[in-house]
Amino acid sequence: MNNKRNVLVVLSGPSGVGKGTIAKKLIERNKNLSLSISCTTRKPRDGEADGKDYFFITKESFNEKIQKGGFLEYSNHFENYYGTPKKFVLDTLCDKDVLLEIDVNGGLEVKKNFNDAVLVMIAPPSIDEVRNRLIKRSTESLEKINLRMERIDYELSKKDLYDYTVINDDLLTAIEEVEQIIKNEKNK
Ligand code: 5GP
Repeated sequence: MNNKRNVLVVLSGPSGVGKGTIAKKLIERNKNLSLSISCTTRKPRDGEADGKDYFFITKESFNEKIQKGGFLEYSNHFENYYGTPKKFVLDTLCDKDVLLEIDVNGGLEVKKNFNDAVLVMIAPPSIDEVRNRLIKRSTESLEKINLRMERIDYELSKKDLYDYTVINDDLLTAIEEVEQIIKNEKNK
């Protein structure tokens, strides 16, 4: 296993599709896989911890990090910035595979700099189902829900630019599919 190449795997997909759960399970099940923790300017949600879910930083610190070339990629999402710390990813890739759970713009940006990166889109079995789930569980205004829906369509419209699409119909099957993709890519 150790003489195979280490891969940079990017998981993207619309919110509500379960990519966070897939990422978490992949990390639990694969000792050779490390999750990159992103920086964000958004406020922590209930239950989120600094340094675990994200590094929660100010807009000023984020801009400073951009100036210093500290991000492998960064993008703007619903008025907040999100970025992948370059040093962590490059250092970790020396001895492990690295998983990024980022949006499609970030994923495509990573691919520009890192042609070997493996882009995996997690897609829902039915878009209508995701819309209904978002409406049901959301405490947000209709305007915000509509924005999220537009974002879902946008993320999925980029799937042909991704290397793989995995449908999250059954969680375990989706996890195993991503694991198989990683295994195959390591052998290339
Ligand atoms: P949330 O605010 O719900 O945690 O994340 C919003 C979106 O930002 C999700 O699609 C998530 O995958 C994406 N995201 C998280 N970290 C990064 C990052 O470092 N870079 C980019 N481009 N997107 C990110």
